[in-house]
Amino acid sequence: MIDLCSRESKPLLSVDAALERIKTALQPVEGSEKVDLKNALGRVLSESLYAPVNLPPERNAAMDGYAFSSRDVNHEQDFSLTLAGTSWAGRPFDGLLEPGQCIRIFTGAVIPEQADSVVMQEHVQADGQAIRFPANTSARQHIREAGEDVKQGSLLCAHPKKLNAIDLGLLASAGIAGLSVKRPVKIAIFTTGDELIAPGQPLAPGKIYDSNRYLLSGLLNDAGYSVTDLGVIADNKQLLEDSFLEAAKNHDVILTTGGASVGDADYVKEILDRCGEVDFWKVAIKPGKPLAFGKIGSCCFFGLPGNPVAVMVTFQYLVAPALTQLSGAPSSKPLQLTAICSSTLKKAQGRQEFQRGNLIQEPSGEFIVSTSGKQGSNILSSMSRANCYIVLPAECKGVQAGDKVRVDLIGNAGII
Ligand code: AMP
Ligand code: MG
Repeated sequence: MIDLCSRESKPLLSVDAALERIKTALQPVEGSEKVDLKNALGRVLSESLYAPVNLPPERNAAMDGYAFSSRDVNHEQDFSLTLAGTSWAGRPFDGLLEPGQCIRIFTGAVIPEQADSVVMQEHVQADGQAIRFPANTSARQHIREAGEDVKQGSLLCAHPKKLNAIDLGLLASAGIAGLSVKRPVKIAIFTTGDELIAPGQPLAPGKIYDSNRYLLSGLLNDAGYSVTDLGVIADNKQLLEDSFLEAAKNHDVILTTGGASVGDADYVKEILDRCGEVDFWKVAIKPGKPLAFGKIGSCCFFGLPGNPVAVMVTFQYLVAPALTQLSGAPSSKPLQLTAICSSTLKKAQGRQEFQRGNLIQEPSGEFIVSTSGKQGSNILSSMSRANCYIVLPAECKGVQAGDKVRVDLIGNAGII
């Protein structure tokens, strides 16, 4: 597809083709380490974990009430049993339940071997030691069987799962206190540009604040990544080359922003070519066309564009899947929705475009999306207001209000 916007003479690589090239070039990192369960959130399992015990470990009550044996009673009539004791959660009844007896029991408490039924406390009448059960009391109810959740020896979590809070709860319930996870992906980030200064410093003529380093640090805030922030590098070939080569020695990934285009001070692609290999450096994506991908030795290199919105978009669609692959975690496809677009959108043919939008869901369930404002790749405010991308195919020539469009959520955004 030729980009009509910039009159590219050669076809640009589509986003899908770029992703394929990235996937082919990368292998998951090798090596694992032991972590305590409390430090395992967001880490990628390097071994499958099996239940060392039954879950639940013992038969227990699902209700507060009275436990009895259904063999002792005729359920069609009401009946009375004698209270023989209590089973508390954590303090089981230690006697023997004789015929004609029941015990008081609380949720989670162990059911005595002779009992097979629990009745809710609201359904009985207690008169001292005599407990009266109504006619048609159900047998074999409100009992949680040992192993009904997970049987001892069966699979709890399969590697290479990226562990979430629920997984931690599940592993804890099986008594697992430590586990083996993949080592983190080591990522070096730096921003490039003579114009960049750090927030907190006074703004000097011609300077702008470096937003990309903060944006990238936020995007990389993941327990599976170990990030080294190497700061700002000036637009100086030697400095850039030295920094790339140094960072490549002990990182799996180098991420830079800026200098990836074709301006006179854009050196990233040239230097990557000199000290490594460029796989591709232009993608049919808007925003974000100048994106250099390659390797320096075994370290993978992403030279992202300078404009912050282009950084955000290329990160979500090209870098994040690559990092997932490197981490060894399984890849998953983002949720894609179809919405009615209530705005008219301009678009030139040639590149797949990710416009910022606001997605709402009508009470009828229908999704409606509207533009979140100006779409320049430097306009971070309309990105900050947006909760989704309106994804327009390369061949699309614009959208009329009322047209259906594809919508992807931004990061973990919710719907308004
Ligand atoms: P470049 O790709 O270096 O030509 O940068 C494209 C645009 O992005 C220019 O307007 C830069 O000033 C801007 N830019 C580059 N790096 C950053 C950054 N770290 N934070 C904010 N804007 C940036
Ligand atoms: Mg620059």
